[in-house]
Amino acid sequence: MSRCLLISNRLPFAYNSKLGAFTPSAGGLASAIKGLDSSKVGFDFEWMGIMTDDVDAQMLEQLKADSTKSIPCHPIIVPKEEYDHYYNSYCNNVIWPLFHYERSMVRHSQKGWESYITVNKLVADAILAEAKDDDIVWVHDFQLMLVPGYVKEQRPKLKVGFFLHIPFPSSEIFRELPQRREILQSVMRCDLVGFHDLSYLNHFRSSLQRVLGEVPMSDKMWGVYPISVDSKHFMDLADAPETQECIRQYSENKKNMKWILGVDRLDYIKGILLKLRSFKSFLKKFPEWLGKVQMVQIVIPSRTEVPEYQQLKRQIEQLVSSINGEYGTPTYMPIHYIYHPVSENELSALYQLSEVLHVGSRRDGMNLVSLEYVMSQKRDNPGIILLSEFTGAHSTLSYAMSINPWNIHDTAGRINEALSHPEDLCRREMLAMKDFLRNYTSSDWAKIFLRDLLKEPTEQERAQVLPVNGRFPWMRDLAGKRVLFFCDLDGTLAPISAFPKDVRLNERTIELLKKISEKDDCQFVVVSGRDKEFLEEQFVHHDFKFPLAACHGAYSYNPMEQQWTNLIPHDSTKWKDTVLEILKLYTLRTPGSFIEDKGHAITWHYRNSPIEFADFLANKLFFELEEVLTSQPVQVNRGKKVIEVKSIHANKGFFVQQWILQQAQKPDVVVAIGDDTTDEDMFGVLQERKDLLPFCIKVGREETQANYLIGEQKSVNQFLQNFLTSLDQ
Ligand code: UDP
Repeated sequence: MSRCLLISNRLPFAYNSKLGAFTPSAGGLASAIKGLDSSKVGFDFEWMGIMTDDVDAQMLEQLKADSTKSIPCHPIIVPKEEYDHYYNSYCNNVIWPLFHYERSMVRHSQKGWESYITVNKLVADAILAEAKDDDIVWVHDFQLMLVPGYVKEQRPKLKVGFFLHIPFPSSEIFRELPQRREILQSVMRCDLVGFHDLSYLNHFRSSLQRVLGEVPMSDKMWGVYPISVDSKHFMDLADAPETQECIRQYSENKKNMKWILGVDRLDYIKGILLKLRSFKSFLKKFPEWLGKVQMVQIVIPSRTEVPEYQQLKRQIEQLVSSINGEYGTPTYMPIHYIYHPVSENELSALYQLSEVLHVGSRRDGMNLVSLEYVMSQKRDNPGIILLSEFTGAHSTLSYAMSINPWNIHDTAGRINEALSHPEDLCRREMLAMKDFLRNYTSSDWAKIFLRDLLKEPTEQERAQVLPVNGRFPWMRDLAGKRVLFFCDLDGTLAPISAFPKDVRLNERTIELLKKISEKDDCQFVVVSGRDKEFLEEQFVHHDFKFPLAACHGAYSYNPMEQQWTNLIPHDSTKWKDTVLEILKLYTLRTPGSFIEDKGHAITWHYRNSPIEFADFLANKLFFELEEVLTSQPVQVNRGKKVIEVKSIHANKGFFVQQWILQQAQKPDVVVAIGDDTTDEDMFGVLQERKDLLPFCIKVGREETQANYLIGEQKSVNQFLQNFLTSLDQ
């Protein structure tokens, strides 16, 4: 079995320096990962997580030895002070509140961010030291969002997945994060990014669009994988003798009282105050339930040293006591409040005995308590769930009763409805949800995520990526061969610029092209979408003796005769007037956009425009043009922030085909390089000519027919340099 390294902030045990002992880590993520069944998922799991350097050395050795019995653990030791800044000042004071839409709780801190970088680097270093090439690295959650970037930087081929266990907020909120670019750029390097809910994925995509200006990953690089629980464990737990004993004891006190259960970590995101207010409103609106319904609220202590959490605890306790004071009697206490963790058996007993589970989170990545509640229910005594629509679980638990926790009065009404829900309906709904979760456990969640992470690489992924030395293996065989080299300009020889007219070749590229032009065995042809004048300025004025193809091959330039030939014999330009008229209307509406007339092609550029708006209009424009031009000899293309209408003959594929036919001597090797959709025409034609040993190279990472990739334009010079060397060797 392959090894999968699970990386999370904490290991399943945390060292409690006061107790001098390890205690189980609380929270959803730890519970879910602990429930993974290696044999079901098909991987050997090993767990890497942070431990601060105040851990007792002897205890640490003991932990490592013990952990090998279950899931082997690799503690990553981090200086305590650094960890505190990382964890408190950045993870919990910035990311946690911002991602849960609690902007007023955000406390920015430069030191916190610096520590976040340091700790993420330490974790990445530990992974790089531990991971073998065929291991899979699965990074978990918001504390480690820079880790994928650091790992991929060093080991691009290592499979790295990332899962976010909290919500990804709307891009309107995310955009406020000062370090938004660094975070997105790192997460984007992953092979697969997973979220609990489709809305989180949609927000992530729109953040990429708004912050980085593009959505560069293809759809297979992200997905929605709602987490689940170890279903069998909760079913077994429900029947365990210890649980049954708890049920017996609690039943004596409960008698005929109906219980509404709440189980929440002490956190503002859990909406405990809103829940208490709804309960108070319920008691007021439906006094017939007084003395018959009790709320059992368990609050699990969390971040007890933080003043905001201490204040929240005080507010909860004041409200509990005021409700109990107002509605209680010597024989009836409306709220039973417990401020400490309970054991698994106690929890299972409470899940089984409570008629209603109330989850009122203001925002919650998933909420495992609601899933555990489902798995603990029995056919003869099924409960019902009031579930906030702001939880990830809301998409999974289709028969839960939805609530908007902010609407206190409506929620009060829903509590009444839940308590009066017919038992046979409760049974049917609860059993349907239980059936679903019985077949979709936390192990299935991991299995599906990891299967997608390992999916067979596509054609594109199989394409060979430019090695670090800038030299593809086939380049060793070029010496003495007649090479025909078709090369694109924008995005290939020169970077894309906000203003196309400003594009210039850099000094190094000019130097390299000069050397290539001196090679007798290599014919270098520039094949560009630009007009004739621009290409002359770039190449003829620099004394390059290259043939040039302008306007996607509509015109060709012969350097010996120093003249252009129109390769499109019967050109009709009737379509141009129609296109120009439409494009002008779009340009008027879209700030920063402009039209470029290239003769046989007209391009609408919107690189400098408000991107979402321009993308939206570009979509409309594309369909409008296609409709208007159906009977015309033109093609409408969507390129990188451009819409282009070109004569069907102005086609790079058509051009290279003709060019090869006209050669007196057949070339031994043909090389073609380009970055845009129009270059695909060239790749498509050449891939059909296996007799010419075609080497098609895509600059970028989008879908392509090329069989080689150069990830970024800035690596093209290095490739050209090595191409030159290869011609000589
Ligand atoms: N839980 C616990 N101790 C308790 C009560 C509950 O550890 O006294 C567990 C509960 O079983 C669940 C987790 O805490 O697995 C809470 O997960 P959830 O996703 O609901 O919330 P999170 O704390 O992760 O925000």
